[in-house]
Amino acid sequence: MYVLVVEDERRLARVIRRVLEEEGHTTDLAYDGEEGLAMALEGSHDVIVLDILLPELDGIEVCQALRKNRVDTPVLLLTALDDVPDRVRGLDAGADDYLTKPFAFQELLARLRALGRRRVQAREPERLQTADLVLDLNRRRAERAGRVIELSPKEFALLEYLMRNEGRVLTRTQILDHLWGYDHTPDSNLVDVYVSYVRRKVDKGHPNKLIGTIRGVGYVLGR
Ligand code: CA
Repeated sequence: MYVLVVEDERRLARVIRRVLEEEGHTTDLAYDGEEGLAMALEGSHDVIVLDILLPELDGIEVCQALRKNRVDTPVLLLTALDDVPDRVRGLDAGADDYLTKPFAFQELLARLRALGRRRVQAREPERLQTADLVLDLNRRRAERAGRVIELSPKEFALLEYLMRNEGRVLTRTQILDHLWGYDHTPDSNLVDVYVSYVRRKVDKGHPNKLIGTIRGVGYVLGR
C-alpha cells in the first residue's frame, strides 16, 4: 500500500515509516498539516495516518479539507489517550478510524490493512502498468514484456513512485524525499545511482526506453 503519514513528532513519524516499509508498504511523510494536506490532495495514497495535533492545520482541519475536495482516501487519526471530543470531531470530519497514542505497531498495521482493503476493493487493482512494464504491488513483482525483473526493495519503491507519477517529471529532491525521507542529508547522487540501477534493469535490451532524464531537473517515466 501507499501510505501517507502526517505526524509532527519526527521520531515517531520515522519509526512508523520504518515499520510500514518493513511490511512492504511505500510511505510519504509530512511533518505539518499544510504539507500533509498538499500531499494528500494528490489523492494517490491508499490510506493516510493523520495525527490530530499538528502545526499549521490540525488533523481535523486536514480531514475536513480533504473531504470537501472530494478526496476519499481512508484516514486513520492518531489521538491523545483521553481526548474523546477530538475523536468525535475527527469522525464527524470524515475520518474512518482512530488509534490512541501510545499504540502498538501491530495494531497500527492491522487498522491500516483493514482500511486499505476497503480502499483497494473500492478503487484499483494493485497493479501498475506502463507500456509493457507491469508492477504487481501485492506480489511485489516487476515484469517487462513478460519477463520478471529482480529489484531490491528500494529499487521497487523507486519504480513504483515513477510509475505512480507516469508522465510527470520528478525532481531529484522529490525522489530523495520520497525514498529516504525529508531529513536525509540531501545527496542527489544517491538518486542518480538508484535510477541508473533501475534503468539498467528495466530498459536494457528494450528499444522503447521508459525512464527518461530531464537534464538538470530529474526523471520521468513513460513520456
Ligand atoms: Ca502531534
